[in-house]
Amino acid sequence: MKVNYAGTVSLSTLDWRGKTAVTVFFRGCPLRCPYCQNHSYLEEPDLKELGFVQEQIKKSGSFVSVVVFSGGEPLMQAAIVPLAEFAKGLGLSVGIHSNGYYPERAAELVEKGLVDKFFIDVKAPPNDPELYGKVVGWGEYEAVRKSPEEIAAAVAKTIEVADSSASGLELRTTLIRDLIGSKEEVARIAAWISENVKNREVSYVLQQGISEHSMQEKLRKIPFLNREEMLELGKVAKQFLENVRIRTTEEGEEKV
Ligand code: SF4
Repeated sequence: MKVNYAGTVSLSTLDWRGKTAVTVFFRGCPLRCPYCQNHSYLEEPDLKELGFVQEQIKKSGSFVSVVVFSGGEPLMQAAIVPLAEFAKGLGLSVGIHSNGYYPERAAELVEKGLVDKFFIDVKAPPNDPELYGKVVGWGEYEAVRKSPEEIAAAVAKTIEVADSSASGLELRTTLIRDLIGSKEEVARIAAWISENVKNREVSYVLQQGISEHSMQEKLRKIPFLNREEMLELGKVAKQFLENVRIRTTEEGEEKV
């Protein structure tokens, strides 16, 4: 089996709060968020043997307690299943960063007991497909094939799968001025989470999108939301949810 592979960070403290991780990045993604920072992973494939990627995990295995699969979109590839099995076999906990597009694969991993924590993007209110489509590049990039309604429904389903499992859950929204991140939009996302997620331990993280490395050129000149603006937005989310954090370049991660 092959893996469309982007690289490994052998020691990361940023990808799973409170844990030291080996993080494996996959290439490929069915979405094209205009602000994507990892757009170099999206087009050109680089296929590696499964054993090669397992070896990268094993090399870090004795220095870390968890493996995080990130991307790109890790659930896009069937190889995520044997890789998660391999990591579990090494005694590592498994975290999955996902855009929520593949609920069936999330369910397969859950059924096999292979995920300890999901980190899922909620890029816009899932009950507003039109806005969701805009934020994931629908209509602008041919690579985005499913309709906004299908994408938003898939995200809601993936969150339901994660929420119904015993895995931990972090939901996250990347905020970009003039694209997504008004107070009203943050309030609608947080209200949706509050109404639809049963897990009261869920954490909701507002991430400061850094527009200068965006896939879409016209976004690169837009000033990013500063820490004070992020904090204000965090307070809006806090009206609906207990466990809210902001992540900024100025102060790293802070609880609101
Ligand atoms: S979901 Fe969006 S931000 Fe994430 S890798 Fe895909 S295009 Fe980039």
